[in-house]
Amino acid sequence: MEDCIFCNIINKKLPSHMMYEDANYCAFLDIFPRVKGHALVIPKKHYRWVNDVPEFGEYWEVAKKVGLMIQKKLSSSYISYVTIGNEVPHAHIHILPQSTDKLEGFHFDPVFKMENTEIENLAHKIKGSMNH
Ligand SMILES: [Zn+2]
Repeated sequence: MEDCIFCNIINKKLPSHMMYEDANYCAFLDIFPRVKGHALVIPKKHYRWVNDVPEFGEYWEVAKKVGLMIQKKLSSSYISYVTIGNEVPHAHIHILPQSTDKLEGFHFDPVFKMENTEIENLAHKIKGSMNH
């Protein structure tokens, strides 16, 4: 897509700090890092959402490879893999190397309040739709 920032990075119309590239995916450092080593793994072909990528498992395998490479180089304690998707409309997996046992660079909102029966009903609803 012409006006997509990530497509323009792939086409080299925009500069990037590229670290990994293969036939279908690439990874580069985020220029607005949430933590040191914050990277993005993207498909080279434009897809809107992570689950639009047809080879979903392959995509995550690449994310794991990049995550482990970063973890090794930065001696991170662990890697958080995060997908949100509403910041840039091109599928991307955030890789957030963590330097302590505490989650940094990303936070969950306070717990969403639901009764246990509501949660149970929701599980049945989802399970029912998955069996069709
Ligand atoms: Zn794009």
